Amino acid sequence: MTVLNVNGTVLRSAGLVCYVPEATAAQMSGRDAVEVRHLLRQGCINAIVGRIETIARTGFACLLPHLEQAVTKSYCCRPFLCCMQLDSKETYAYAGLRSERCCPWCRLRPGRSLFRTAREHDRAEITSLWAVANPPVRSAARRAARLRLGRHGWHPTRRCGLLDVAKSCLLPGPVGGGVLRGIIGVDVLHGLYIAWNRYLFGTLRKLLPSETSKARKALDSVIAGFVLRDPETGKRQRNLDSLLGQEGLTAEKRVMLMVLLATALGTSGGVLGAPREIVEAVTQSVASAEVVFLACRGHRSYTEDELSMIFKDQAMLFFGSLAKVMKYADEQVMRMCPN
Ligand SMILES: [Zn+2]
Repeated sequence: MTVLNVNGTVLRSAGLVCYVPEATAAQMSGRDAVEVRHLLRQGCINAIVGRIETIARTGFACLLPHLEQAVTKSYCCRPFLCCMQLDSKETYAYAGLRSERCCPWCRLRPGRSLFRTAREHDRAEITSLWAVANPPVRSAARRAARLRLGRHGWHPTRRCGLLDVAKSCLLPGPVGGGVLRGIIGVDVLHGLYIAWNRYLFGTLRKLLPSETSKARKALDSVIAGFVLRDPETGKRQRNLDSLLGQEGLTAEKRVMLMVLLATALGTSGGVLGAPREIVEAVTQSVASAEVVFLACRGHRSYTEDELSMIFKDQAMLFFGSLAKVMKYADEQVMRMCPN
């Protein structure tokens, strides 16, 4: 079990070390080991949420400088729980999802199409299904509720304990979507900086499979000319050897590779040596990824229309372009095969 997993190392971040909670004999009776593990996991995060909840009820005193007079004044502050950025594995385990590909925001979609939008979970429906699915007595209604939960992407019996613990520390009013009030989300680091980069660079590696090809050498020669420096200290960093190789790189370096890739491709993208529409698809996917990455840097807040343009339209363009490149790369491989 991970004790501490921090995505950033800024001075303001704080780590909280917890000990594994104890499961009582009453909790363990009639449960198998996997269910007990789920109980313990819930206990770990609930211990942290419970701490925030206790402080949220009464607030805490905070000495802050007065805005107009040169004195410090005591304020009563209350913490609110707005977001939990968990890894995909932890989201699946803590939110009580059916599998890692399920989402706490929207319903599991059947079928394979990338471009069909998923419907948001109905909070009232899932909450009532949980109530019917949990009693120990077998019944046809319990079975039906468990099956329905599974179809929506939730585990039939393992339920998230967040809403049982967090009451005062949640923002009042209709905030957030999904069943868990939008608190459990996909984090930017894994969901975008790592995953999107992997999709893009993986596709490019498929397009240019030979490491000694002219196109790859040309791309690498462009990045060899850059001097990389730490943005805060200005200290010189180790140069990247290859544009398409990403082994052992941090998420920040991957973001930087994306920017370098745009420079290396140039406006024409002629270096790829592929047909015009494929080059256009590659440059489009790089451009869309850049828009989304830039929007996630916290520079400013966006309106609803802008958010829809950034995350919906650009995501469609990104995945649509990658699908086009993938298809072309597959056709190239098929052409090489004698049979
Ligand atoms: Zn979703």
